Amino acid sequence: MTRVALLGSTGSIGTQTLQVARHLHKRIEVVAVAGGSNTELLSQQIAEFQPRMFCSLYPERVIAGGAVQATMEEIASDEGIDTVVVATTGRAGLAPTLAALAHGKCVALANKEVLVMAGDMVKAAAKRCGAGLVPIDSEHSAIWQCLQGESSPRRLFLTASGGPFYDCAEEQIRMVTPEQALAHPVWSMGSKITIDSATLMNKGLEIIEAHWLFEMPYEDIEVLIHRQCIVHSMVEFGDGTIKAHLSQPDMALAIQYALTHPSRHEGQTPPLSWDTPRTFSFEPVNTTRFPCLDVARKAGLAGRTYPSALCGADEAAVDLFLSGVIGFADIAPSVDSALSAHDPTDATSVDAILAAEEWAQEYVRSNYRNVCSRSETRK
Ligand code: MG
Repeated sequence: MTRVALLGSTGSIGTQTLQVARHLHKRIEVVAVAGGSNTELLSQQIAEFQPRMFCSLYPERVIAGGAVQATMEEIASDEGIDTVVVATTGRAGLAPTLAALAHGKCVALANKEVLVMAGDMVKAAAKRCGAGLVPIDSEHSAIWQCLQGESSPRRLFLTASGGPFYDCAEEQIRMVTPEQALAHPVWSMGSKITIDSATLMNKGLEIIEAHWLFEMPYEDIEVLIHRQCIVHSMVEFGDGTIKAHLSQPDMALAIQYALTHPSRHEGQTPPLSWDTPRTFSFEPVNTTRFPCLDVARKAGLAGRTYPSALCGADEAAVDLFLSGVIGFADIAPSVDSALSAHDPTDATSVDAILAAEEWAQEYVRSNYRNVCSRSETRK
């Protein structure tokens, strides 16, 4: 039995993790759940899975049964837990991830910002404490699976669906509304990550994650547009061989593997059908139309607190876009302007990391008008 704590249980990855736990109830025991504002769903989850502990922003609204209230860090350090699934969004995952690693737990990581902002600290903590750090993101899970039994990869290829606007002309991209951007053609996800997928910022964050997870230099991590979303990533080795990971685009697969590796168990995802012809295409990214990818790569290469500033700036820019204040095409220049203005420090403490993130959020909120007026004049 693997005893699992699920942080972010009411979100998209959280509910899919519980679906896997329901299916593998003989192997996975959910012993703690932590949720945000959806206290009704959290109460239902507690009633169904009977965890020992829970965490909520609004504990007074939660019907907790016998579950004891705890903080996410207390949950992450509890000795009765083997694996902590970190499926929170943004900065909330950082402290519990570090706490879980410090206590030698396996962390199954779905939260991007944790590695992007604090990759160095997180990897160091995992090594120091002999803790496991496994990815839940589909691309990183694919790379991890391709690397089983292998050593010394030469290049990593992250695949990207390209999002809903990849084939649109530049003028059309400028007119994209939040409603259009929120309708992702393949993956069903939260709103922040859906917008990040449409701008390709999500793929940029994934480059930084891959750099830390697999200890690969940035120049050996490439992104390919793969519209069919069946090849989830690829690894090239020294002899020129490339291994690819293929499956239905279903996060349940990556979640289940993170919780049961190295074993594989029967899942609930239907197998790929080969009854009709399939064509797979791969192409390099047009970074002129989708500049977020280069903006993120630049922040990763610059290191220090630049990736934290990247996360903060992007979060603020996506918020402004979703509330109709800035246009879709203003997201990249807003983030880029914050990076140019950022005064970095070493990313050696949670405080330094969070300070850089907050600074960048504030910078974008106070300066978006300058960026938007510049792009107005260009039109
Ligand atoms: Mg992904």
